Amino acid sequence: TPTYENEDHELWAAVHQEEDRQQHNVELIASENIVSTGVRAAQGSVLTNKYAEGYPGHRFYGGCEYIDIVENLAIDRAKKLFGAEYANVQPHSGSQANEAAYRAFLKPGDKVLGMDLSAGGHLTHGSPVNFSGETYAFHSYGVDPKTERIDYDAIRSLAEEIRPRMIVAGASAYSRTIDFSKFRAIADSVGAYLMVDMAHIAGLVAAGLHPSPVPYADVVTTTTHKTLRGPRGGLILAKADYGRAINSAVFPGTQGGPLEHVIAAKAVALNEALQPEFKTYIQQVLKNTAVMADYFAEQPDLRVVSGGTDNHLFMVDVTGVGMSGRDVQDLCDSIAITLNKNTIPGEKLGPFKTSGVRIGAAAVTSRGFDEKDCHEVAEIIVHALHHHDDPAVLATLRQQVYELTDRRPITR
Ligand code: PLP
Repeated sequence: TPTYENEDHELWAAVHQEEDRQQHNVELIASENIVSTGVRAAQGSVLTNKYAEGYPGHRFYGGCEYIDIVENLAIDRAKKLFGAEYANVQPHSGSQANEAAYRAFLKPGDKVLGMDLSAGGHLTHGSPVNFSGETYAFHSYGVDPKTERIDYDAIRSLAEEIRPRMIVAGASAYSRTIDFSKFRAIADSVGAYLMVDMAHIAGLVAAGLHPSPVPYADVVTTTTHKTLRGPRGGLILAKADYGRAINSAVFPGTQGGPLEHVIAAKAVALNEALQPEFKTYIQQVLKNTAVMADYFAEQPDLRVVSGGTDNHLFMVDVTGVGMSGRDVQDLCDSIAITLNKNTIPGEKLGPFKTSGVRIGAAAVTSRGFDEKDCHEVAEIIVHALHHHDDPAVLATLRQQVYELTDRRPITR
C-alpha cells in the first residue's frame, strides 16, 4: 500500500470501494463510460500543478512551453476528429462549454429556442433553475406527442413566432437521429444562430455513425466523457470566424486557469477516437443498445419511448408494471444494476418520481459486453420488475449480475 493511502485511510478506502462497485455493477447510465488507463494517467499527471491562463503562445504565466504542446495536440486532434475549423478544449465541463458558447453569441435577455428538459433537453438549455434560463429568454420545443420524435415543422412554427437569436439542438435523453440540416434551414429562415450540443452523441459523430452537426452549426459544444470516452470535461467547435469571440468567452469570460491535466487526458481520448478500433467500439454500442431496447419493446407491460432507438440510449415507460422510474432505479440498485429514472414525453408523475428510466450501453460495451450479455441484462431487469417484491428472486438476480460482471472484468 502506498504511504499516502496509509496516511489517509478513510479517503482511500472509499476510492477502493468505488473501484469495487464499478467492477461489480452493471453500469447503464447513458452519460457514463469507462476511460482507458492512458486517459487516467494523463489526468493524474503533474500537469495538474501548472497555471496556464490564456492560450498556447499567449499565456499569462511563464513555464508553459510543454503545456502549450499538450494543449495544441488536444486542439489539433479535436479539429481533425470532427472536421472542425476551430476548437477550444478548455471548458471544465459541458455546462461551462454551453455557458461560454451562449456568451460568445448572445447578450443577456436575448431569445433562445431550445429543447424542453422534460422532452429530453439539458438543464443548460434554458431550465429556469439554471443560469441559462436566468440569463437568456429561453423558449422551448418538445417532441410530437404521438411519435415522440422531434417535429421539425412545429419547431419552424415556433421559431417564426418567437424569432429567437439562437436555436439550440441536442439532448440528454433523445433516442433518435437528429437532422441538423433541418435545424439549419429553420435557423436560416428566421435569421438565428444554430448551436448544437452533441454531448451525448459525440462518440457516434466521431465514429461517423451519427450525422455530424459540424457542417451545419455555427457552434457545437460537447462533453468529452460520455460516448466520446474521455475525461470529464467540455469542448467547443466552430467555424474559424467565431474563434476569437469563443476564446474570450471561455477565458477570461467564464473561466480562469485551464485544467491542463484534463486537457492532456482529452488529447489522449481524442487520439483513441481517431483509431479504427473506436468505430468498432461505437458499432458495438449501437448493437448492444438495440438488443436491449428490442427486448423491452417486446414486453406487453413496458413501452419503449418512440418505439425504439437509433443511438446509444433509450427510455422505457415503466408505469405499466405499476412502478415509477424512481422505484425501478431503486430496485435495479438493489441488484447491482445502475440506471437512472427519467421523465418521458408527457410526463405525469413529475421529475422526482418519473414514469421512465433511461438506459445506455456505452459503459458496458467498454468492458466488453456483447449482444448476448446485453440481452441477459435486459432479461434480468424485466425479471426483477415482475418479481420486485420477492427477495429470493432478487437475490438470485443479484448473483447473476455478479457472475456476469466477473465474466467481463474492467481491465481499462
Ligand atoms: N449537455 C448535454 C446534452 C448533457 O447531457 C450534459 C450532461 O449530462 C451536459 C450538457 C452537461 O455536462 P456537464 O455535466 O459536464 O456539465
